[in-house]
Amino acid sequence: MLRLAIVGLGKIARDQHLPAVAGLPEIAIAAVVSRNARLDGVPCFETLEALFASDVAVDAVALCTPPQVRRAQAALALAAGKHVMLEKPPGATVSELAPLIAMARDKGLTLFATWHSRFAPAVEPARAFLAANRPLSVKIDWREDVRVWHPGQDWIFEAGGLGVFDPGINALSILTRILPRPVFLQGAGLAFPANRAVPIAAELDLADEAGLPIRAEFDFLQAGSQSWDMRIETEGGTLMLSAGGAKLDHDGRPLVDEPEAEYPALYRRLIDLVGRRESDVDLAPLQLVADAFLLGQRRSMEAFTW
Ligand code: NAP
Repeated sequence: MLRLAIVGLGKIARDQHLPAVAGLPEIAIAAVVSRNARLDGVPCFETLEALFASDVAVDAVALCTPPQVRRAQAALALAAGKHVMLEKPPGATVSELAPLIAMARDKGLTLFATWHSRFAPAVEPARAFLAANRPLSVKIDWREDVRVWHPGQDWIFEAGGLGVFDPGINALSILTRILPRPVFLQGAGLAFPANRAVPIAAELDLADEAGLPIRAEFDFLQAGSQSWDMRIETEGGTLMLSAGGAKLDHDGRPLVDEPEAEYPALYRRLIDLVGRRESDVDLAPLQLVADAFLLGQRRSMEAFTW
């Protein structure tokens, strides 16, 4: 039985982590670490230091805090001999992951940088299709209303919070999983609200070594219908990956249409990694976001208020 501490009892911890763990017999919530929130029936602590100084035993921590504070929490947990599961994105910078990867390796612990969207039901079928049918072009539309999905989460608009790349990186995590070759950034446009540190809209142009054209458009101010869609023209027809990776159509014919069950799959992967004392850290999606900040043409927009 893997004894888990949930760290940062906010939206994703309550919506997904707690129910996913409750449904798996091999893992249980042994503690919660959160400055302002409590969970009935579970030992609760305001800091990781307080947890590790207590007699409550945990084997692993799931860091569900904003990315800006995760590196220090991960380092503390690894130093205390705990396996670490990181919510996406794995950090506020790319470079902060290298010392964590090294510490996990040196201590024989698991560091699992999760990409929940890669566990959506249509992602592996899309990957298999693209292995057999050469892609000719990719168009990504990831448009959602930040006021609906992240109400009042100011950290998302602070440096390291990623802004529109908080959802957009989910698309990049799928893209980098399903395509047969690595992709790289060629150009980007970034729209910054006058009062915020990160973009609220972005357009990316990417490619692979074979010249595959990839266009991604991310918008955090989408009113009305929301879209988390990827249209891929291939030599074998048109592949539509939609609903954030839950649905797949080929030339209009449904191939996959399943309810999402990403977090139970994430936890099964964590249990498997811990059993083998292995880590899983793929920084490719975060690297593309960092490259967009390096290369992006910036434009400013009116101030954003909730
Ligand atoms: P959230 O609702 O703001 O929850 C994060 C929690 O972390 C807060 O409730 C807070 O709890 C704690 N926290 C906030 N600032 C902190 C700080 N400076 N130091 C220590 N703890 C702090 O955010 P969320 O939506 O759950 O997102 C958390 C992470 O999960 C993000 O990286 C996000 O990308 C990812 N994620 C979110 C979703 C989603 O649908 N929301 C989906 C997938 C992944 P206390 O105040 O009690 O400490």
